[in-house]
Amino acid sequence: MSNMNQLLDVLIIGGGPAGLNAALVLGRARKNVVVIDDETPRNWVTRETHGFVTRDGASPREFRKAAKEQIAAYPSVQFASDTATTITGSDGDFVVKTTQGVSYRTKKILFAVGKKDLPLDINGLTEVYGKSAFVCPYCDGWELRDQALVIIVSGDKALHMAKVISGWTAQYTICTNGSNSLTDEQREELKRHNVTVFDAPIQSINSEEGMVHQVVLNDGTAIPCTGVFFQPKLFTGSELPKAIGCEITESGTVIVDASGKTSVAGVYSAGDAASEMYQAITAASLGALSAVSINNELNFEKWDEPSHL
Ligand SMILES: Cc1cc2nc3c(=O)[nH]c(=O)nc-3n(C[C@H](O)[C@H](O)[C@H](O)COP(=O)(O)OP(=O)(O)OC[C@H]3O[C@@H](n4cnc5c(N)ncnc54)[C@H](O)[C@@H]3O)c2cc1C
Repeated sequence: MSNMNQLLDVLIIGGGPAGLNAALVLGRARKNVVVIDDETPRNWVTRETHGFVTRDGASPREFRKAAKEQIAAYPSVQFASDTATTITGSDGDFVVKTTQGVSYRTKKILFAVGKKDLPLDINGLTEVYGKSAFVCPYCDGWELRDQALVIIVSGDKALHMAKVISGWTAQYTICTNGSNSLTDEQREELKRHNVTVFDAPIQSINSEEGMVHQVVLNDGTAIPCTGVFFQPKLFTGSELPKAIGCEITESGTVIVDASGKTSVAGVYSAGDAASEMYQAITAASLGALSAVSINNELNFEKWDEPSHL
């Protein structure tokens, strides 16, 4: 196992919008930083990222490339294409080991590990995910405006999604995919707004080259459409926060305070890992916020060292 004897200021685990914006802020604050990233983000399936001013329409890869080019101006930030696997130590001197056998020592850790999709359990969904089936209307609603859409959603979220989607198109139906969980009042309200609800389980999503053309139900109903929104089941992007004792919600979100601090001293988290907003610009802003908090903490700690007096 190779060793990095240098004690880093910050090790950032995850190189998506959150980790990259944190790296930019910390690089400009003259901190020694390594960003470890194994490049398996959820949004790799999509062609374009929308709603991020100056980057609207950029692919996730273009986004990361542009970020790294800008961060290269700050030589105290290094990147490693690797997976962090274990963490030992405590605030001021953590040791992070990776699959490639590298061992990093660092004062602080920022988890920007995102979230992951649980395997998609609808036949044909994988083929269209990121091409004509999406998870967030704020990300991809504009591209599907005024089109015939199927919204796969159940329970209380169905009414909520119906109201949200109605801003982009009037032609949409709801498929609860076998979950008969809407109340009579919710069904009545949807009916009043001319929204059709299908409860039968989905047999398949039929598509050509990633473009959906119909959703077929087990009872034989075929719903023509050119787009789908669905609600993926998510889980944590990495088990490491939990492994080192960070408090986590049931849905796998790292619990942080307003500055991105976790329940473990010296450990921060930002982006999708620590929020349920799931927008690139939100992730980047949370990364920036955590970086400011980490940097202040480092500077204040140094201020109090005897050698600084
Ligand atoms: C299909 C789809 C379309 C989307 N479209 C949009 C859009 O148009 N606009 C928008 O604003 N948002 C969009 N989003 C959401 C957006 O992509 C996320 O909110 C954003 O990428 C979150 O950034 P992040 O940095 O928190 O995490 P991520 O971008 O997920 O990055 C986390 C990184 O951490 C790495 N990682 C995890 N564990 C480890 C480990 N142990 N060691 C090393 N690396 C690790 C992962 O490989 C990954 O690269 C979309 C999401 C999806 C799924």
